[in-house]
Amino acid sequence: MCGIIGYTGGRPAATLLIDGLKRLEYRGYDSSGIAVLDGEKLTTVKTVGKIAELDKKANGGKDVIGTVGIGHTRWATHGVPSDINSHPHVSANGRFAVVHNGIIENYAELKSELIAKGIPFASDTDSEVIAQLVQYLYDGDMLTTLREVCARLVGSYAVGLISTDDCGTLYATRKDNPLVVGLGRNENFIASDFAAALEHTHDFVQLGDGEIARLTPSSVTFYSSNGVRIEKTPFRVDWDISQAEKGGYPHFMLKEIYEQPKALTDTVRPRVKGSSIVLDKIALDTRNANLIEKIDIIGCGSAYHAGIVGKYFIEKNCRIRVNCELASEYIYSNPITDSRTLTIIISQSGETADTLAALRLAKKLGSHTIAIVNVVESAIAREADDVLYTHAGPEIAVATTKGYTTQVAALYLVGLKIAKLKHTLSDARYAELLDGILALPQQVRAQLDDVAGIKKYAKRFAQHKCVFFIGRGTDYAASLEGALKLKEISYIHAEAYAAGELKHGTISLIEEGTVTLALATQRALFYKMLSNIKAVQSRKGTVLAVASAANSEVSEFTDGMLVIPDCDDDLSPVLSAVVLQLFAYYVAAERGCDIDKPRNLAKSVTVE
Ligand code: GLU
Repeated sequence: MCGIIGYTGGRPAATLLIDGLKRLEYRGYDSSGIAVLDGEKLTTVKTVGKIAELDKKANGGKDVIGTVGIGHTRWATHGVPSDINSHPHVSANGRFAVVHNGIIENYAELKSELIAKGIPFASDTDSEVIAQLVQYLYDGDMLTTLREVCARLVGSYAVGLISTDDCGTLYATRKDNPLVVGLGRNENFIASDFAAALEHTHDFVQLGDGEIARLTPSSVTFYSSNGVRIEKTPFRVDWDISQAEKGGYPHFMLKEIYEQPKALTDTVRPRVKGSSIVLDKIALDTRNANLIEKIDIIGCGSAYHAGIVGKYFIEKNCRIRVNCELASEYIYSNPITDSRTLTIIISQSGETADTLAALRLAKKLGSHTIAIVNVVESAIAREADDVLYTHAGPEIAVATTKGYTTQVAALYLVGLKIAKLKHTLSDARYAELLDGILALPQQVRAQLDDVAGIKKYAKRFAQHKCVFFIGRGTDYAASLEGALKLKEISYIHAEAYAAGELKHGTISLIEEGTVTLALATQRALFYKMLSNIKAVQSRKGTVLAVASAANSEVSEFTDGMLVIPDCDDDLSPVLSAVVLQLFAYYVAAERGCDIDKPRNLAKSVTVE
């Protein structure tokens, strides 16, 4: 994740790069850097912290001479945020500088190979392998070299590169990570986001997956992944800067909802090697998996709701008892835990005060702790025994979306890994679930392509005072998050109930016009769910179902239906979440709410 800007032209590059990086600050980052060429002289300035620091270190760019260069804002995924780990990374021979957004999944393998060939590494990042691989494979022709480099990389990347051998030239390539080329007069740009270059040009070309761009001040040439020169048609971007920072979306929340296919890919893909799940460095083997007597999952807000999805998944598939606890309750409950309990701590920011206190208590009581966290090197990530990063990228909207779904995906991986170690699933069922998890990003992408139905119902129900969410099993877990999303951003009173529980009290609140969102994605519970829906309708309540096409007969009994793609029953909460996020978003938009910054709420809750 994060930001890339590159420039070749006649103006001093450093100032322009630093200004471009400032335009990318909104995306969140932990460090930044620039590399600039003046003839064959390569100067690099990098620093952890704010761009203001970089600006200071480079004396506003004045101390860094040259008219071609690359800049980067880093959101650390591999290696702590530090000066050395910041980009650009320079090859050991000092001739190539590289900026990279994304994750190189096979970096460890490549790094060992290059070290064995005598190439020393300076940083702990995955990205540095690109610079060192360029050095190793360089044959005097950067285009063929880059093609060979890309053929060796597994993962996602947007890359900008400069070389002392090729002074006025800038190279770029990408796979599964955005990169555009900006066209100026006697100057050209690369950027991960229009925002970085929009001050200088409104004419852009989208670089396709696997394509390579070669930019000089007066020309831009494009090559396909097999080296054939291709023509590409520029387009004009008429946005002003503030729109561009949100990537053209009216709100960060909507942007982040649309980032979920990529975020889910980054959570899951690097951890699936063939049919195995490799959870980074987490100490989970057959011996300790068999020693787990109980799992405590602890979180607050949406992270707690992700935990409840995890509880259903793990109990069913691993046959281990799981308690899902609210962090603020856990810490004062004199919890029953010891070394036979595995504690999974969930927090997007990794700084949530209640959750951090719970982590410390669980550790003190002798439990092994695994943190599922998005922000690298955050307090929870540092203090837990093991950490599994979600790699969702910066989340700016207060109401979490991609943060939540990636936490759920991470829990699926942990659960499925334990199931494999404990042999609680057949090989066929394990493979089915793994395939299902891998298919989620693509299914979410398909959902995001068609939101007309959600908009229609959001408009119809936007002025209601109260909305219920009901579901059974894992649908109940998903409905908790759906209700929270609606409450947080639209200020409509929303409550989630286990559908079978309605008749034990809450049904007294159902009257003509009361809206109930009924999640009916579970095949095994479908007819039970239909009875609950009918009970609501008998009290003249309005029911909107959320179900897969396979369960579309539910629409005969409801006032409307939001369809999710067909998927495994155990995995539907991710797909339901996307529908319910969009529903909440469009309801809030209809009501004119401050969607990205709802009243009274903060993004990272660092007080107890
Ligand atoms: N994976 C790279 C790193 O940790 C790049 C992260 C980014 O996209 O900023 O350095």
